[in-house]
Amino acid sequence: MDVFIEPIGKLINEFSKLPGVGKKTAQRYAYKIIGMTEGEARRFAESILDCKRKVRYCRVCGNFTEDEVCDICKRREGSVICVVKEPKDVVAMEKLHEFKGVYHVLHGVISPMDGVGPNDIRIKELLARVSGGEVKEVIMATNPDVEGEATAMYIAKILKPLGVTVSRLAHGIPIGSELEYTDEVTLSRALSDRKII
Ligand SMILES: [Zn+2]
Repeated sequence: MDVFIEPIGKLINEFSKLPGVGKKTAQRYAYKIIGMTEGEARRFAESILDCKRKVRYCRVCGNFTEDEVCDICKRREGSVICVVKEPKDVVAMEKLHEFKGVYHVLHGVISPMDGVGPNDIRIKELLARVSGGEVKEVIMATNPDVEGEATAMYIAKILKPLGVTVSRLAHGIPIGSELEYTDEVTLSRALSDRKII
């Protein structure tokens, strides 16, 4: 990074920490910032800090929220819970405008290879919600890859004794792909054709 003067080098270094951003792209971003007015640069910097200061996890579902409980949990009836891996999957599902239930964000999936066990993701919290007695169906919407499938099966096994219906998004979502990148028609069909597991 010696070819850049220090402030530019530092900025390039920060941008290269972002996913999918290589050295060249980081450099382009840094130049773009330098070309901004001071007001634009301040808004940019403040929106980063704002996210850090204001965004937290919903106490109930684990999705991003500014309050203790998110708007979805506050406003919707909780008899159907859609279980996803990450907050970005909630966004993918919400874009369909079809699902009217609530969510549960696991913040990961079981992956023995990466040392992630059932206690490392929010399964206990899901169990507590279902034990409350109001829940009728839990839709497992983890990604259709090895870890996502294994996690869905594990959770189905521990929820079934509680008398709740556990379903899985229908196939049609390409194996190994992510909800986030699945087109809306496919995801919508996977939701309506979900199978009881
Ligand atoms: Zn919530």
